Amino acid sequence: MLSSGRHSKEHYQQMWRDLTQKGIWVGENWNRRKNGEIYAQAQKISTARDEKGRPLQYVCLFSDITAAKNHEQQLECIARYDSLTKLPNRALLGESLAQALMQTRRRGQHLAVVFIDLDGFKAVNDTHGHDAGDHLLITVAERMKAALRDGDILARLGGDEFVAVMLDLADVDASAPMLNRLLVAAAKEIHYDQARLQVSASLGVAFYPQAIEQTPDIDAEQLLRQADQAMYQAKQAGKNRYCIFDAEQDRSVRAYHESIESIRRALVEQQLVLEYQPTVNLRTGEVIGVEALIRWIHPQRGLLPPAIFLPMIQDHPLAIEVGQWVIENALLQIERWQQVGLHIPVSVNIGERHLMGPDFVQLLREVLATHPGIKPGSLGLEIREACAADDVTKVSQIIQKCRAIGVECTLDDFGSGSSSLTCLKKLPMKYLKIEQNFVRDMLGSSDSLLILIAVLKLAGSFDLKVIAEGVETVEHGLMLLQLGCELAQGYGIAHPMPADELPGWIKQWKPDPAWGDVAMAPC
Ligand code: C2E
Ligand code: MG
Ligand code: MG
Repeated sequence: MLSSGRHSKEHYQQMWRDLTQKGIWVGENWNRRKNGEIYAQAQKISTARDEKGRPLQYVCLFSDITAAKNHEQQLECIARYDSLTKLPNRALLGESLAQALMQTRRRGQHLAVVFIDLDGFKAVNDTHGHDAGDHLLITVAERMKAALRDGDILARLGGDEFVAVMLDLADVDASAPMLNRLLVAAAKEIHYDQARLQVSASLGVAFYPQAIEQTPDIDAEQLLRQADQAMYQAKQAGKNRYCIFDAEQDRSVRAYHESIESIRRALVEQQLVLEYQPTVNLRTGEVIGVEALIRWIHPQRGLLPPAIFLPMIQDHPLAIEVGQWVIENALLQIERWQQVGLHIPVSVNIGERHLMGPDFVQLLREVLATHPGIKPGSLGLEIREACAADDVTKVSQIIQKCRAIGVECTLDDFGSGSSSLTCLKKLPMKYLKIEQNFVRDMLGSSDSLLILIAVLKLAGSFDLKVIAEGVETVEHGLMLLQLGCELAQGYGIAHPMPADELPGWIKQWKPDPAWGDVAMAPC
């Protein structure tokens, strides 16, 4: 009795336990009519006992709830299936995908999540009407379903967005034939009334599992997001194609954004500082200026040199903000030193994006205007040869405009670029800084020495003053003086230092006595 077989064994066991122990059971059951028809009933069963408490009869009160049950099922269907294409909807997809992931993990296989967006669907809807659009969606859905294998999932998220899940793939490559079939299925012509409709599809594919160290516990939501992102790339790349989500690239893009954000934070939270390295006349001992060099006092990693963080922002607008910060802070420092009687020119390094930006000179003018006490000639700019050589004409115009407002320029790292002669000829620079490798190596390498001699001659004929960078020892200084180059900068003179150490350093600095004895060669 009461065992239509539509419920589990446990269901019936529980029912009988309640009836024997409590004497009553309330619940729902599927039952069978005499004619064999299965129907649903809401039941209340009570046990009638004799005077010794033994069950005599069971009294069952029930009502037929089949109609309500069917309605419930319909609602369930509406909640989990797309009414137009009858495909699973987003909710059911989520559940099925989560299950599929568990199964794939157990079996040690691969799974592909394919985000599908039709190309040109809106145009069909607009031109031929919604009925045509609906017809197209239904047909494309059927064709794509047929392009997949039994057991694969095709769901509609809404609009012209679908998701396919390919299960049990032996490896990633095994998905390629099906992806191509999906593309063909979506792009096939469809006849509707007199019209011929055609769309195509852009597919984004994300695979599971991914390398453990990249995404240890990726879930259904994340996979869908990755596939969506790859689909967007397929659209960008020209539509009617598939793109595979590249976790490696995604991580580097993410890392890039994170670095930009951390440098922006460093700027806002005042973790960036300028250090200053003197440039001197080796012979006379005069300190002719200082170069401002940026550093990042990182809360965890300590003092970071510019090579660690500037390259990350060199192609980002943040490079301009940092560049302006450098100029502004150098000007503030010039004012502070002026107040204690130290009048010393400061040169700042200007990055390419900043220099070549649309309004570099205007920005420079504006920031100078906010420091009217600063005399012309106090601020200088250093432009790397490699940057200047990119567009010599434009850089030349910028330098001329800077000169007009009292800002002189230095051609930095001269010799590192490849168009040195053009630069020398066209750029109205005041100083030229020789790439420090030549200076450092000149004592041991005759090539470097010959290049250095040639550069000095060349600079002489263009009437440029030469500063030798990378002067690390007394011997470097000696050799430079013998070659006729007396302006120098380098660890052998001073390391870059915090601003408040500079006045003390200048007071005590004396050139090496050996340098005073050198007979200068005419350059
Ligand atoms: P740079 O303009 O050629 O600056 C000289 C670099 O050489 C500095 O490195 C300095 O510390 C280092 N140096 C000085 N003397 C010696 C020496 O005797 N031996 C050796 N081995 N090195 C020496 P730093 O501060 O790490 O800067 C590296 C580069 O980063 C700079 O080269 C410049 O191109 C760039 N930079 C620095 N600060 C800024 C800035 O505020 N803005 C921009 N756009 N670039 C900057
Ligand atoms: Mg420099
Ligand atoms: Mg340099």
